[in-house]
Amino acid sequence: MNAEAETHRGRCLCGAIEFEADGDAKWVAHCHCESCRRHTASPVATFVGFAAKRFRFTKGTPKVFESSPERWRSFCGDCGSPLTYHANWDPGGMHVYLGVLDEPEKFPARIHVHCAERICWFDTDDDLKRYPAMSGA
Ligand SMILES: [Zn+2]
Ligand SMILES: [Zn+2]
Repeated sequence: MNAEAETHRGRCLCGAIEFEADGDAKWVAHCHCESCRRHTASPVATFVGFAAKRFRFTKGTPKVFESSPERWRSFCGDCGSPLTYHANWDPGGMHVYLGVLDEPEKFPARIHVHCAERICWFDTDDDLKRYPAMSGA
């Protein structure tokens, strides 16, 4: 690990699960897909992409649910906070739900993905690029 790499921390609502990620976010995205909507019970889910090898749970063990084939979402089994998403299509990445990071203000969103599934009355007031599905990046 680079000595200058910053460590970012987060936790679930009840505090049973804590985690850390080192280094800069690779991307930050609002996801409008139906699976994220159901997992968070919210109109949109915002993710921060970290390198999987620089991410670790430091307290507790989350429950993991396979929400689609080879796509896994973790959450706190006590309080239900959604925590992470990881998938075989991005083996080096760990997608962390923005809302469970201690300093979400450090990660302004850069793009919108899966806009084809967006709730028609919901949007955010920004000029970020909007992709109908994945960004392709
Ligand atoms: Zn919890
Ligand atoms: Zn999604």
